[in-house]
Amino acid sequence: MAKTEPKLDNRPGCILTMGEILVEILASEIGQSFRRAGTLIGPFASGAPAIFIDQVAKCGSPCAIIGCVGDDDFGALNVERLREDGVDVSGISVIKAATTGSAFVTYRKDGDRDFIYNITNSASGHLSVSEIREHLLKDCRHFHVMGSSLFSFRIIEAMKRVIETVKANGGTVSFDPNIRKEMLRIPEMREALDFILDYTDVFLPSGHEVMLLASASTEKAAIDELLGRGVREVVVKRGKDGCSYYDGKDERHVHALPVTEVDPTGAGDCFGGTYIACRAQGFTVERALEYAGAAGARAVTYRGPMEGTATLAELDAFIKERSEVSHG
Ligand code: ATP
Ligand code: MG
Repeated sequence: MAKTEPKLDNRPGCILTMGEILVEILASEIGQSFRRAGTLIGPFASGAPAIFIDQVAKCGSPCAIIGCVGDDDFGALNVERLREDGVDVSGISVIKAATTGSAFVTYRKDGDRDFIYNITNSASGHLSVSEIREHLLKDCRHFHVMGSSLFSFRIIEAMKRVIETVKANGGTVSFDPNIRKEMLRIPEMREALDFILDYTDVFLPSGHEVMLLASASTEKAAIDELLGRGVREVVVKRGKDGCSYYDGKDERHVHALPVTEVDPTGAGDCFGGTYIACRAQGFTVERALEYAGAAGARAVTYRGPMEGTATLAELDAFIKERSEVSHG
């Protein structure tokens, strides 16, 4: 694939994503177990692609999501929330015969989380090529893929269709692998991830994911391998250690803002949504990374995966406040 200058530019058109739309219900206490009754909090709007696109909308970029919900209050909660925040929800199908997906989360004392998911058998499992809305594809200048969404062959087929169409129309693609290791044991999944990487302009892995999709044995070599196969920008998310950026010429490392973590879920999605929206609005890499890092840091200070999404003005205020804290 020929390399050109990064071109996430100011052309009109919308940022599109596709995938699971869920509610999340949280254990209220750290160390609480689902093996016995306890107090739960929620439902909160959720689903990695939904959180991503909500953050894109809050940044002020035109955007849409293709997905499925059930004909129930969990679905309505999500659709209303996304619409209110400025997402075009015309690509969300209501599946009468299914219920909206859900995720139940417990928090371990060591900071890890455990999830019980109802996604595959929920409305989100109905996503297929027939849910693709042509009007959204026509307007799309950038498509974002979440690896967590690739849980059925019908969805993978739909993703491939959208990716090929968007790229054929001159658009760009970003990819956040969000991988569970078990996914890589399925040969078709490995093939699907490789297919997506071949079309990826902006790759947004978490630190441990860099090596999973490359054959190289060090992170630096893996990043070079990804850039060599046509990825133009690699942004590695490193939690409280900030993030790193690579494009083959330029390399940047940005420290995280100091925060007290309340709930880590959604940080990566808020980070990605902000980075893609800022680049699409013509911001420099430096400014896009600053806003994206702030969006990730701010997200972990809110309980609930989508509750920390923020406008650029809110991020400006947050950066100012946190910088004052870190400078004493
Ligand atoms: P997820 O577990 O949701 O998939 P992720 O691995 O995709 O998360 P993270 O690296 O956890 O994403 O978070 C994305 C970005 O948000 C980080 O690169 C960092 O800039 C910011 N961030 C995350 N956690 C913290 C934290 N505890 N303190 C400050 N900034 C944070
Ligand atoms: Mg992630």
